[in-house]
Amino acid sequence: MPDAPIQPLIEIIDLTKVYKMGEMEVHALRGVSLSIQPGEYVAIVGASGSGKSTLMNMIGLLDRPTDGIYRVGGTESQKLGKKALSDLRNREIGFVFQRFNLLARATAMRQVELPLFYAGVASRKSKQMATEALTRVGLGERTHHRPEELSGGQQQRVAIARAIVNQPSLLLADEPTGALDSQTGEEILTLFEDLHSQGLTLIVVTHDPDVAARAHRVITMRDGLILEDVQQVPSRPAPAPGGDASVAPVAQPTLDAQPRVVLETAGEVAV
Ligand code: ADP
Ligand code: MG
Repeated sequence: MPDAPIQPLIEIIDLTKVYKMGEMEVHALRGVSLSIQPGEYVAIVGASGSGKSTLMNMIGLLDRPTDGIYRVGGTESQKLGKKALSDLRNREIGFVFQRFNLLARATAMRQVELPLFYAGVASRKSKQMATEALTRVGLGERTHHRPEELSGGQQQRVAIARAIVNQPSLLLADEPTGALDSQTGEEILTLFEDLHSQGLTLIVVTHDPDVAARAHRVITMRDGLILEDVQQVPSRPAPAPGGDASVAPVAQPTLDAQPRVVLETAGEVAV
């Protein structure tokens, strides 16, 4: 992406990450450089162990690099303290994981309101924002359902609503369709396309070529380095027969007691 006229959303220069395990050192990133412009839809692919999740953790400000420079919206992340870093993360970045990472006992509404609660948004406003986000992912009718009352695809939609509710600039997804059947995965990818066309920047980590085919740019990792970084014309989805046929049972409206930690679940990506 030479001569981009606008400031990159993400700028990474010679980033390295070394995990120390006792005597052993794992060089998970060996010098990665890349820029991502606002509005891009990028897939990061590569064999297991190539450093995809590590790179995503760096981009998502979930972990610090060993060396190198990382700027988000022009802000150099290394210069920020813990609080400023988590503020920046909460403001700018939404996360979606393979296993949804929802709270078992909270309604869809609660899950989506939680980041707003941490951001200090007043209750009435947060209800409205959460409702809007759930509607945006096609779950406006399911706001009082708990995860066990939702299909896998619906749970992932709740997770996506949670990720976009405070309007981040960037959505990061690590194997977002990995736990879903192909039809449901397809629906999630269509939703990503909608969000992308509405201006959201998307980075999707995947080992699935069909998922990568939907992005406009594919970055291939190998052994902690970028092997290839290419623009592509995204493939069009095959026309889907019918919609989501799964019907969840009607839930009792509940008000769960004090669900905690949702942003902390992000730690689970580093496996
Ligand atoms: P991928 O997501 O492409 O499968 P990862 O980024 O998870 O790859 O891992 C890259 C390398 O770093 C692997 O060798 C992995 O074992 C190692 N690694 C990842 N996370 C940790 C960690 N928290 N501690 C030690 N080693 C890790
Ligand atoms: Mg991984």
